[in-house]
Amino acid sequence: MTDDSTVDVIVIGGGTGGYSTALRASALGLSVLLAERDKVGGTCLHRGCIPSKAMLHAAELVDGVAEARERWGVRARVESIDWSALTATRDDIVARNHKGVEAHLEHAGVRVVRSGARLTGPRSVRTEDGREFTAGRGIVLATGSRPRTLPGLEPDGHTVVTSDDALFAPGLPASVLVLGGGAIGVEYASFHRSMGAEVTLVEAADRLVPSEDVDVSRHLARGLRRRGIDVLTGARLEGAERLAFGGVRATVRTARGELREIGAERLLVAVGRVPVTDGLDLAAAGPATDERGFVAPADWSRLETAVPGIHVVGDLLPPPSLGLAHASFAEGLLVAETLAGVASAPVDYAAVPRVTYSAPQTAAVGPTEAQAREAGYDVVVNTMPLTAVAKGMVHGQGGMVKVVAERAGRVLGVHLVGPHVSEMIAESQLIVGWDAEPADVARHIHAHPTLSEAVGEAFLSLAGRGLHQR
Ligand SMILES: Cc1cc2nc3c(=O)[nH]c(=O)nc-3n(C[C@H](O)[C@H](O)[C@H](O)COP(=O)(O)OP(=O)(O)OC[C@H]3O[C@@H](n4cnc5c(N)ncnc54)[C@H](O)[C@@H]3O)c2cc1C
Repeated sequence: MTDDSTVDVIVIGGGTGGYSTALRASALGLSVLLAERDKVGGTCLHRGCIPSKAMLHAAELVDGVAEARERWGVRARVESIDWSALTATRDDIVARNHKGVEAHLEHAGVRVVRSGARLTGPRSVRTEDGREFTAGRGIVLATGSRPRTLPGLEPDGHTVVTSDDALFAPGLPASVLVLGGGAIGVEYASFHRSMGAEVTLVEAADRLVPSEDVDVSRHLARGLRRRGIDVLTGARLEGAERLAFGGVRATVRTARGELREIGAERLLVAVGRVPVTDGLDLAAAGPATDERGFVAPADWSRLETAVPGIHVVGDLLPPPSLGLAHASFAEGLLVAETLAGVASAPVDYAAVPRVTYSAPQTAAVGPTEAQAREAGYDVVVNTMPLTAVAKGMVHGQGGMVKVVAERAGRVLGVHLVGPHVSEMIAESQLIVGWDAEPADVARHIHAHPTLSEAVGEAFLSLAGRGLHQR
């Protein structure tokens, strides 16, 4: 074995979890090898957060034209959508980000090996060309996740697609049936509706984004329905057939038990994601997967598996990790600092913001009202419509702010629905993360007129000093 086959840290997988671990470990003076079998940046950059948000930005512009015409007397219409131009801009943003991540890694001195890698022991890894590497301090598993598919509904890239294929499909469909009302399904339903498609959104649970507060789900479903999306909750797909001349015909059992036939040009399956461990050869080193395929840490404060020195970050982790890129950044920082022997606080998952970038958007931090009550808190709640402030009326899209706090105590959760709430959640994550009480927040003045004034006003009311809330 040559010298350059031994490093301090080996990271397998170069998505947000893996590359953040590598960058931080390198900044702390450790020698790092990062094995990535595809492209650094992973799901988030190439198939997830970035391309989907680029497309949703275009969708917002389209919606803006409709609003301009309908509310503001601007005589404008969307002539047509040039899908190849839209995707070219999207892909350019992805490509520039990709170059940026590559440059960061190079600048940080991370050795990137473009290859799949598998474990050969608790401190050793083999790449596809047969090279063996040893890690002096530890190995970090960061191989992420892939879309879950359903038996009989295997994706074909054009008619039955996952969120991956939807990006690279040849054009925009005239009608879409989206299966799954989590964040990804809701975002894609919203995007396609903005682009003019007939959209049906089917969710088996009794509400959309079921892990969010019930009022968030209610406002979201109302907002999507107002935009013409057929939202079916508590509904189950009984079967679907691909039609000879294109498209699908699906049979859905509605919440009332009726069978409904739904025809669509495209069926988008967004029923969750599964961890990727095939190819890692976990058995060679010891860390086991749980019954859902996640690699659970034995010690969450270090994200270290039952095998000392093998750590795990990102979508490979089970809940309470969140399957979100920014959670994986925090996990990467924690693991790198742990491996470098630098004190690092465990990830506070309750203070990680969760956003759905649809129209309307949802953004939340902390437990829902139901979760707070289940946890035994004596809870007070204030819910305030965004239209209670002038800027909310200007936007004219409804929405709400809901604050969940301990009676005479700290703020536990903040839940937002409406336009631009993805950009409004940051103050709430500090409020929750810093254990602030409503009166602490109420002391701080929000700019007028802004949408975030509604957040300030919700706290003023909770502190007994409300101005505009009846
Ligand atoms: C449509 C969509 C939209 C999303 N939007 C958001 C959003 O707006 N905000 C947000 O926070 N999150 C979002 N996410 C989630 C986010 O993308 C993931 O949480 C994040 O990418 C997880 O990062 P990761 O590093 O764990 O895994 P990944 O990004 O999946 O990276 C894992 C990497 O490991 C590589 N790999 C796998 N096996 C091996 C092996 N054996 N050897 C070498 N390399 C290997 C893969 O090629 C991959 O590049 C979205 C996801 C999707 C699908």
